[in-house]
Amino acid sequence: MTAALIDGKAVAAELRTRVTAAVRDLAENRGIVPGLAVVLVGDDPASEVYIGAKKKTTAETGMRSIDHRLPAATSQAELLALIAALNGDPEVHGILVQLPLPPQIDPHKVIAAIDPDKDVDGFHPLNVGRIAIGLPALAPCTPLGCVVLAKTVRASLAGLDAVVIGRSTIVGKPLAQLLITESATVTVAHSKTRDLPAVCRRADLVFAAIGRPEFVRGAWIKPGATVIDVGTNRVLRDGKYRIVGDVAFEEAREVAGAITPVPGGVGPMTIACLLANTVRAACALAGLPAPAL
Ligand code: NAP
Repeated sequence: MTAALIDGKAVAAELRTRVTAAVRDLAENRGIVPGLAVVLVGDDPASEVYIGAKKKTTAETGMRSIDHRLPAATSQAELLALIAALNGDPEVHGILVQLPLPPQIDPHKVIAAIDPDKDVDGFHPLNVGRIAIGLPALAPCTPLGCVVLAKTVRASLAGLDAVVIGRSTIVGKPLAQLLITESATVTVAHSKTRDLPAVCRRADLVFAAIGRPEFVRGAWIKPGATVIDVGTNRVLRDGKYRIVGDVAFEEAREVAGAITPVPGGVGPMTIACLLANTVRAACALAGLPAPAL
């Protein structure tokens, strides 16, 4: 059996098309242009690349893209003052502070200072709590993208056995919460899990968010399972750098029913979900119902 490929680029493009239509509708019928403010402190090269891509895609959907670039020596008080200003700015509907931050700034204080209704990254403790108790909330973009991709294979995840490998606050834990909300039966595995291959073999859905190249082997996958690979690992192969996932793709695709490639799987979904969250935030802030995205 060779697994079907889950084309994250195509799914992300479809989501961006729906976001663009929702942005046009808000602008034409409500006079609202959703605005996404992105704050970058310092000049981390990986963050620069990511922010450049966000800016381009934001503008393509018709949203306003607002950039704040602060020097690496920025104090926590200066950053908090900027966030307070963005919280109060009616033209800003989403605020994203690019992580990591320089060592003099406490990321928890910064995230907690963002208006939860503008927290399009979904990291604010209030949004984390809302998701945990099943209330409508802005959900973190990468986990949201994983769920959207899994649902392209099985429209309903209810009753399926899901294993999430990884329990980070940005991927594993929120992903597990979203899957519980989808009524999947969820196991969260981590570095202390005993017999991880056996845990994986029970799963209809495997989500790998570990950060270890090709760690999950084909023999761990239940035949026909859906495999969503969040891992993004840079490895040197035959003298060239390549990006590989946390799953041994060639092995797993022989057993799985459907699998995401890396690159081209979860990665493209993150920015698309960020844009979708910005439109959701703009609607909620204006007292409008959530858009169907
Ligand atoms: P992280 O914070 O380093 O967390 C890794 C998790 O994997 C931890 O919970 C850890 O367990 C677990 N783990 C490590 N070794 C393990 C082992 N031998 N067996 C089982 N579990 C093990 O990483 P993250 O931020 O969640 O990111 C995970 C991967 O996703 C990375 O490759 C990252 O680059 C990628 N990522 C991609 C996107 C995207 O595509 N847009 C976004 C975010 C992250 P413990 O908790 O026990 O240490």
